[in-house]
Amino acid sequence: SKHITGHTGLLCLLGSPVAHSVSPEMHNEACDQLGLDYTYLAFDVPEEKMPEAVQGLRTMGVRGWNITMPGKNIMCKLADKVSPASEISGACNTIVNDNGVLTAYTTDGVGFMRAVAENGVDIIGKKMTLLGAGGAATAILVQAALDGVAEINVFNVRDGFFSRAEEIVAKLNERTKCKVTLHDYEDPEVLRASIADSAILVNGTSVGMAPNTDRTIITDTSMFHKDLFVFDVIYNPKETRLLREAKEAGCRTGNGMYMLLYQGAASFKLWTGEDMPVEIIKEKYFS
Ligand code: NDP
Repeated sequence: SKHITGHTGLLCLLGSPVAHSVSPEMHNEACDQLGLDYTYLAFDVPEEKMPEAVQGLRTMGVRGWNITMPGKNIMCKLADKVSPASEISGACNTIVNDNGVLTAYTTDGVGFMRAVAENGVDIIGKKMTLLGAGGAATAILVQAALDGVAEINVFNVRDGFFSRAEEIVAKLNERTKCKVTLHDYEDPEVLRASIADSAILVNGTSVGMAPNTDRTIITDTSMFHKDLFVFDVIYNPKETRLLREAKEAGCRTGNGMYMLLYQGAASFKLWTGEDMPVEIIKEKYFS
């Protein structure tokens, strides 16, 4: 809200760094458009200071906040209640404060599902190949499994996030109808076979992100096929090498920009109960 009074409510972003984030512009614009009396600010808070920050926000009755790296895991532990998706992944990007009771949600996966659907692609009941098992990838994995994607093959190198992902995969196989399997990249034929009967291939890794725009995990472009939708979580650049080569092979493609927009829209709905005016936000900040 540009006209701040004693009634104005606060929403915010916690993490470090936060100054680059588009979230303040997106949420302030949405509040202005809808005449909602909130202001959204970004606060640079390192992980070890999150407990103190949360205590302050709770005491001050701040309505809600987003959390970016490195606070997404610890924030889950600081909340009083945790959504099913956040419980499975152990991470959250959104807190709703209802009179001092904090509920953790993760809307990144919700944003992903909406971005795919808005591309006119239906992945419910279908098979997905997912590259990566880090923060963005697991948010996608969990939401896709909860929403009814039938089968997901997750690929990650053996070290790194692999062992953490094993726990998430076990929970999903136990609690959802989705058949989830974790693989490494050791045998390229396993990856090829997975992509061959997938409706969607998702890059959930940072491979190909600026400044390393010449990189891609799928170096063998014969793995692409015409019925494949290729999605990249990366939004800088808008067209990664993966998306460019997939397009050249005849695939439909989508980048991470609208995933980012729609995760914001989902958080906004949780705090305000209102639909973010996404067309206006797209035009102003995502074109
Ligand atoms: P994380 O650090 O949590 O995860 C990174 C993932 O990339 C891990 O699975 C990691 O594997 C993998 N990876 C990194 N380098 C390589 C490599 N050389 N070969 C194979 N795998 C590799 O990061 P985030 O999940 O937070 O972010 C990932 C990307 O997603 C970033 O580009 C970020 O900008 C984007 N993002 C987009 C969002 C959106 O809304 N569109 C939201 C959040 C993030 P390993 O286990 O080995 O480390």
